[in-house]
Amino acid sequence: MPEPDFQFTEISKFSPETFGEPGMRTFRINADSASSNALIWVEKEQLSELCESMNQLINEVKLDQNSDTFPPIEKEAPGLSKLEFKTNRIAFGYDENSKMFLIDVYDPQSISEETTLRIWINSIQLEAFINKGLEIVSAGRPKCELCKKPINPEGHSCEYKNGHSKDPII
Ligand SMILES: [Zn+2]
Repeated sequence: MPEPDFQFTEISKFSPETFGEPGMRTFRINADSASSNALIWVEKEQLSELCESMNQLINEVKLDQNSDTFPPIEKEAPGLSKLEFKTNRIAFGYDENSKMFLIDVYDPQSISEETTLRIWINSIQLEAFINKGLEIVSAGRPKCELCKKPINPEGHSCEYKNGHSKDPII
């Protein structure tokens, strides 16, 4: 199996950020690992889809909150690695062996054909990312307690609710 160009396995920060005025906002993922940092610029739709898909995955994976994680720290990127790029492709999944979630991001400008950066995070870090990401993309709209999607003024049809009710959930 080809290895990613860089891997972040000692994450101390994994956080979505936004800058700029409403309608003109830009979005990025800011990740600190050991002595390294990555700034990964994304489109709002990418961040939104990523958070929703991650939310589904975290609900599917039967997690024991107390179980230990086993990050492959021997794969950590060389010290003081600094990455910054706008990604065109993000993939993610759950690794049964390490009990960790993986996020693979690609730099379209990279000469390598492999994943540019693989980020290893635990479920607590993932949940914090999802919550903040959904909050950022919905920009203040209230969030459904069940599916965590923003509730539109005209109501909300929740995929987690029987009958796909159109009634607003307060
Ligand atoms: Zn809902």
